[in-house]
Amino acid sequence: MGRGRPKGARGSSLLRVLSARDLEPERPEQSRRMPCPGLWKTPVIRWDGELMACCADVDGEISVGNLADHDFEDLWFGPQMTEYRLLHIAGRFEEIPKCWSCGGINFYKMSPAEIRQWLEDNGHLELWSVYVERMGLDPNDDFSCG
Ligand code: SF4
Repeated sequence: MGRGRPKGARGSSLLRVLSARDLEPERPEQSRRMPCPGLWKTPVIRWDGELMACCADVDGEISVGNLADHDFEDLWFGPQMTEYRLLHIAGRFEEIPKCWSCGGINFYKMSPAEIRQWLEDNGHLELWSVYVERMGLDPNDDFSCG
């Protein structure tokens, strides 16, 4: 059934090495939209083993691979999910059409402290200032977790 590698490994247009410059929002004034917490907090496994990036993706448009072929950790913490998360943090929702047309989950969220911690843990702290600016946060606030 050709389940081979995760979608990103098959050449998704999203999967590429992103620099901080790549991730600067093109229209910072339009982008107070928060990163969708679904990408961090609600992995969804479809009946056929496909790991979906979120519960809104019933068609598998932004699925990241199949658990019959890959470990959960390799997919959920892999490059495709990392790129989705970086694009959300940078406010570049339009680069993921599914997310652009969705609007995101709003009954729970990723706090700024969680975003900062995730960026630090994943070696992308250079994006923190991009996020702080576009969300209108005070960079002098304490965003430490816990
Ligand atoms: S914005 Fe919508 S489609 Fe994108 S991850 Fe969130 S719930 Fe899913």
